[in-house]
Amino acid sequence: MADDCIFCAIVAGDIPARTVHETDDILAFLDANPLAPGHTLVIPKAHHRHVGDLPADLSSAVFDAVADLTPRVQAAVDADAANVGLNDGEAAGQEVPHVHAHIVPRFEGDGGAPIHAVAGERPDLSDAELDGIAADITAELDG
Ligand code: 5GP
Ligand code: ZN
Repeated sequence: MADDCIFCAIVAGDIPARTVHETDDILAFLDANPLAPGHTLVIPKAHHRHVGDLPADLSSAVFDAVADLTPRVQAAVDADAANVGLNDGEAAGQEVPHVHAHIVPRFEGDGGAPIHAVAGERPDLSDAELDGIAADITAELDG
């Protein structure tokens, strides 16, 4: 539990939340300022800031819950689709520094946008640059 973390306070029961699912490892609850009816957050109970900080068992628990919950959340609010995503880091819009996956139900004609809309202007990358980036990512994994 981290001091001053609102989601740790929810896990501890110090701040109320509309919990929809709970296991020993994860908690899922409604977003207090929803982008759509059914907007749900899935968090590990343990405090980790970045998705890459999660130990493998916890990351499995979070993503298994996201996969399990997404169609059920959709069904509960009669949605047509959903966007699933994480803001990982401040520059990406992460405001609460405790890993959380958003499940945002979507409705035909709701005026929203696909997840492609989250980034800035699209870069114009050459084949050589793309090859270099792919190699750099692979090198990070191997390093
Ligand atoms: P972020 O920008 O960090 O990815 O999103 C944080 C999300 O947490 C926001 O969608 C915000 O509405 C939600 N949120 C912030 N504080 C609370 C809270 O106290 N309770 C609940 N249920 N959601 C919260
Ligand atoms: Zn926390």
